[in-house]
Amino acid sequence: MQITDNTAVSIHYTLTNDAGEEIDSTTEGEPLVYLHGTGNIILGLEKALYNRSVGDKFNVRIEAADAYGEFSDDMIQVVSRAMFEGIDNVEVGMQFHAAANSGSGVITVLTVDGDDITIDGNHPLAGQALSFAIEIVGVRPATKEESSHGHIHGEGCNH
Ligand code: ZN
Repeated sequence: MQITDNTAVSIHYTLTNDAGEEIDSTTEGEPLVYLHGTGNIILGLEKALYNRSVGDKFNVRIEAADAYGEFSDDMIQVVSRAMFEGIDNVEVGMQFHAAANSGSGVITVLTVDGDDITIDGNHPLAGQALSFAIEIVGVRPATKEESSHGHIHGEGCNH
């Protein structure tokens, strides 16, 4: 069957940036399983996978806007160390998951200057075009429960 909205799709992928560096890959492990049409994966990849079927292999390069977004200077801000209550050593390069209602939800510490901490709320892959080598290894209809939850059950499910 073909990939449409509300199908459970299994893919193997290798993700590289424009410098040719490998960022992530499933090929040594389990495939990624996701619910198509719900924004479980980046928009550009959903578009590229639509109507494909099992056994298809292809490469696609996705511009930043359809991947993790353009890099935004507005996402860089200076905050007080008090924001990091409970963390003894705030260090450059640390990443946090923020309960933010905007941005990627990942915050990276850029600089630490006394009590002033500069953070970057851009996704670590923001502003980058991403190239995927894809192999589709499974497509099945999602169950009613999966569709209503907006994610796939089974492998990788957290309930
Ligand atoms: Zn669920």
